[in-house]
Amino acid sequence: QNYCKPTGQIHDACCDYETVESVNEDLFGRLHALVAEPYFRYHKVDLAKECPFWEEDGSCMNRACGVETTDEDHIPEAWRSSTLGKLNRTSARTSSPAGCKEISDSDFCVLEDELDSEGVYVDLLLNPERFTGYAGLSSSRVWQSIYLENCFSPVPYIDPSRPSWEGGSGYADVSAFTGMGGGGLAGGLGAAGGGLRMGGWGEGEKRLMGSLAGPKDPTEEVCLEKRVFYRVISGLHASISVHICDDYLDQSTGLWSPNLDCFITRIGQHPERLENMYFTYVLLLRALSRAGGQLVQTLQATHAAQNEVRGLEGLVSTAGGCPSTFDESTMFSGGKEAQLLKDEFKAHFRNVSRIMDCVGCDKCRLWGKMQITGLGTALKLLFSSDSTDNEEVVLSRSEVVAFVNTLHRLSESLAAVDRFRTLWAHRNDAK
Ligand code: FAD
Repeated sequence: QNYCKPTGQIHDACCDYETVESVNEDLFGRLHALVAEPYFRYHKVDLAKECPFWEEDGSCMNRACGVETTDEDHIPEAWRSSTLGKLNRTSARTSSPAGCKEISDSDFCVLEDELDSEGVYVDLLLNPERFTGYAGLSSSRVWQSIYLENCFSPVPYIDPSRPSWEGGSGYADVSAFTGMGGGGLAGGLGAAGGGLRMGGWGEGEKRLMGSLAGPKDPTEEVCLEKRVFYRVISGLHASISVHICDDYLDQSTGLWSPNLDCFITRIGQHPERLENMYFTYVLLLRALSRAGGQLVQTLQATHAAQNEVRGLEGLVSTAGGCPSTFDESTMFSGGKEAQLLKDEFKAHFRNVSRIMDCVGCDKCRLWGKMQITGLGTALKLLFSSDSTDNEEVVLSRSEVVAFVNTLHRLSESLAAVDRFRTLWAHRNDAK
């Protein structure tokens, strides 16, 4: 039984939910296999960088917040800093783009690279993104700072003293998730669905909207570029929440399993968060199909194994056969003002990447940094060149690793939503 499925057009994308879900069915298996390959599972990251914005309150001491690092001996020789260090930085960027630390004009992120002496290698498969228990003031401060200081307005109000999960209202409005009542998700997401959309907002978001005259949807009154920025951040936030709920630790039994109540509270009751998550996936898919050739070339130039190159080629050609999901040409077009907007967008996004060094839980910081780099790479691929061949953009191995893993995170989130629908249906059948 397949109820509670969002349907219809995804705002600011050029495709609907059904298309994205069917593309995801084709891609997920390939992606899942690809991220298990050495090229994609070993990632170098600096987890010791100080937060540049405020003094941290100390890091999360939960066991689940810890990151298991990998000795450099386990890393294929070609990517070790000892090998890469022999390359001159300039040639590393052009002929063997192993890394690129200095911010170049095309970068949307402050990048780290494998030439850095700082940083540790991490086997991503051994450190899955899941529930860690990181919450409270530290995490809300980071999210708040991302939304309030770095996003274009409008932004959700976050009350750190009242986490939505702990103080959430349970089943107060599950219609947004179930598609039953209030016009269902299809209606809720359509133009006439303002009522249900409103029902999906959290208390803080409602409070903010109460102070805004005009449209009920905070993404409706700003230009496309600013909406896209907000949607991408909110979509990432939603995807992280889905992973937390999908791989949740029941502290009374010590068992890890999906937590349906967690999902309903954080995502199911908020259709706009779900929509933003789909949107973020759509944007990544577009970057994959537009710049697939370039990603493959980077693998070839950075010592990927033949089967890894073939795996990525297969992924790219599957994505290429899908309908277009996003039209980037409508963004940043129109002279000097558009260029200024693009510069502002980039500056904001780079700041978000800096804020990731303020996350007080190593595991969350690892995945937060990785996914912001992945999204920054997608934006770079979509917006750094006016031509479709992206010939000016040079990527590092770290960027490609981050991009593919971020795509996989979002793809897995969509698959998890589908599993939560089934759990919800079973719960109702049992009643
Ligand atoms: P939060 O998720 O902290 O959200 C705060 C407020 O933001 C909400 O009250 C709501 O008003 C608003 N909001 C929530 N979701 C959205 C959305 N999608 N769009 C717009 N507004 C929204 N915890 C883990 O257990 N594992 C992890 O891997 C992990 N990774 C993290 C990575 C980063 C970068 C950060 C900053 C935090 C991470 N956390 C992780 C913590 C986690 O995201 C939550 O902050 C924590 O679980 C507390 O949740 P909460 O219910 O208080 O709401």
